[in-house]
Amino acid sequence: MKNSKQSPPEEKFLRGEDKKLKGWKQLPIGAILDAGTAKNYKTGDWRNIRPIWNKEKCIQCLRCWIYCPDSSIIIKDGKVDGIDLDHCKGCGICAAECPVKPVKAITMVPEK
Ligand code: SF4
Ligand code: SF4
Repeated sequence: MKNSKQSPPEEKFLRGEDKKLKGWKQLPIGAILDAGTAKNYKTGDWRNIRPIWNKEKCIQCLRCWIYCPDSSIIIKDGKVDGIDLDHCKGCGICAAECPVKPVKAITMVPEK
């Protein structure tokens, strides 16, 4: 019969009790080589929907810039100036967060 008081393997590992797995002190030292290398590649290639920014409707609240997880909202002189479609992944967060009503200043459309 299984002992119901036994800790799950991941808990034993976190406490360093599981000797079959290495603890963090036994792991080889790793490194992050260069930061920001995605700038060198078009990482938005697999997007299936894209944001369309409407300059006339935009109230420049910058919420889209704050929430975009890919830093794809282009800012010029402290204002939104467009969207970097080479790196935008089409997640739609900018459109979801845009507060303009009834039609948002960013809408998502299917990628062609
Ligand atoms: S769709 Fe996503 S990745 Fe693209 S600009 Fe909006 S928040 Fe950023
Ligand atoms: S969230 Fe909407 S209104 Fe605010 S800056 Fe972005 S596009 Fe403009």
